[in-house]
Amino acid sequence: MVYDTENIFSKILKGEIPCNKVYEDEFALAFHDINPQAPVHTLVIPKGEYVSMAEFSVGAPDELLTGFFRAIGETARVLGLDEDGYRLIANTGKNAHQDVPHLHFHILSGKPLGPMLSNF
Ligand code: 5GP
Repeated sequence: MVYDTENIFSKILKGEIPCNKVYEDEFALAFHDINPQAPVHTLVIPKGEYVSMAEFSVGAPDELLTGFFRAIGETARVLGLDEDGYRLIANTGKNAHQDVPHLHFHILSGKPLGPMLSNF
């Protein structure tokens, strides 16, 4: 899928739109979700033009793949979630209801989250 350089997370990466930053390094930026679905709801996005895991898993260089996944773990640590745990979600495409076409992992926590999918 062609990457839309005007998507909201691209604008956040470029500094055109503000975010509530949690963590940043050369590979990734993490910030709080604007519409939290749990007491802790943080998004982690790679610094690169990838719509979703479909593109990222095939097209990203090894250094970015590694750095991005380390950044997800580091963000959770910064948030103090290692002990009680957290859920990672990366919606990809229409079946998963992906809204923003820039790869992002949701980190959800802050309370017991219940079963993974409630209305299967
Ligand atoms: P998706 O459905 O694509 O997996 O999730 C997109 C997420 O991005 C949603 O949870 C939504 O609340 C969040 N979001 C959308 N626009 C903004 C924004 O401008 N700032 C922040 N921080 N989060 C956003």
